[in-house]
Amino acid sequence: MGYIEIEEERCKGCELCEATCPRQLILISARINRMGYHPAEFAAEGCSTEKGKGCTGCALCGLVCPETAISVYR
Ligand code: SF4
Ligand code: SF4
Repeated sequence: MGYIEIEEERCKGCELCEATCPRQLILISARINRMGYHPAEFAAEGCSTEKGKGCTGCALCGLVCPETAISVYR
């Protein structure tokens, strides 16, 4: 199992990580960061869909992020 941390102030809200996560564990937040973007957030704990249970630490989200804002831990 794994988990991720997203540096919200580096995030540009491009949604690539949200589209990439095979478990649908990343959502775009309603908050706005200092650059004026809606940052991505790790939604593992709040996710109620069957797919959204448990980050595998696959690191796909970290690989696609153009801002290297995501750290993946296993
Ligand atoms: S490491 Fe994999 S499973 Fe975990 S949030 Fe990133 S893409 Fe999703
Ligand atoms: S891929 Fe990176 S910059 Fe794009 S929404 Fe996700 S964390 Fe933000």
